[in-house]
Amino acid sequence: MDLIDPARFAPASWVTGTAPVVNFVLPCYNEEAVLRETASRLGTLLDGLKADGLIGADSAAYYIDDGSRDGTWALIETLARERGDVCGIKLSRNRGHQNALLCGLMSVSGDALISLDADLQDDLSIIPDMIRAFRNGDELVYAVRRRRDTDTFFKRFTAEGYYKVLALMGVEVVFNHADYRLMGRRPLEALRHYRETHLFLRGMIPQLGYRSSVVAFDRAERFAGESKYPLSKMLSLAWRGVTSFSAAPLRAITSLGAMVSVVSVAFGLWALFIRLFTDVALPGWASTVIPMYLLGGIQLLSLGVIGEYLAKVYEASKGRPRFHVEAITGGWAGAGTGTA
Ligand code: UDP
Ligand code: MG
Repeated sequence: MDLIDPARFAPASWVTGTAPVVNFVLPCYNEEAVLRETASRLGTLLDGLKADGLIGADSAAYYIDDGSRDGTWALIETLARERGDVCGIKLSRNRGHQNALLCGLMSVSGDALISLDADLQDDLSIIPDMIRAFRNGDELVYAVRRRRDTDTFFKRFTAEGYYKVLALMGVEVVFNHADYRLMGRRPLEALRHYRETHLFLRGMIPQLGYRSSVVAFDRAERFAGESKYPLSKMLSLAWRGVTSFSAAPLRAITSLGAMVSVVSVAFGLWALFIRLFTDVALPGWASTVIPMYLLGGIQLLSLGVIGEYLAKVYEASKGRPRFHVEAITGGWAGAGTGTA
């Protein structure tokens, strides 16, 4: 049997003339307040792109309801009745943005998928440029933020610092890019082989390789509703980004251990010298108690970091499904459903 299927390398349909089917994936969690406006703007855009022949007539928007507790799913069902190119997938419970997005990427077929937020923060006007880049052969097109002036000072400061820390640890990320991107069929297939339990898609996808490019955009304010990413969720995603892609914190423990050992030996030699060659009495409790607390702290911290990695191994060994689909709606053109 051939290991390589030549069909996968044949010229794609849009190279040979027909327009590619480009589907849109939007994870939604309690987005009742904004979804109608999003659907209306995206609908207009889809109509325009189809009329211009940039995307195929079968292209559609897929709204992934991430276990919302408000009327989001009912609204998606209504939208799907109104337009033939609106589909919905409802997850059985809230699994978090990354899992909801993965569900879309794994369940929807097409020549390419564009993932974007449902709150209209991702500027739709760059989509034609993303599709043109794809039609010119880029299989991954990353939307990157030109500026961060819609963020609070705190978020801007921490986000920029975070990208730098990731780069220092050798994690390959696209600077100022989150999850607004176009993916061609081949990177999507490649992504299926990644079985990570804790997803950090913006770190996983650049690892796939393939020809890629970036398109700059200005991120708007959220159209309506509130951010579904409180500080705690953001910190957890940030920590996941570090621990899923780098063993640097574990190595840092080794270095810290080595440093403390060297200092302790030097301290010991100094104490021995004082004891043997001078009449000075050795300083008392401070030199005993302070290093004791310091070492206690360092040891607990190190154990914690090791524990975090161990927990990841534990989670991964269970290999639990990352989402379950409860319902679908609309002129469903997707491939598989179920769990992944
Ligand atoms: N989201 C989701 N599940 C969650 C949290 C958020 O599907 O548990 C979706 C949300 O509906 C939105 C996108 O992820 O479409 C980004 O979330 P949000 O706009 O709240 O994040 P922010 O832009 O504030 O970072
Ligand atoms: Mg947002």
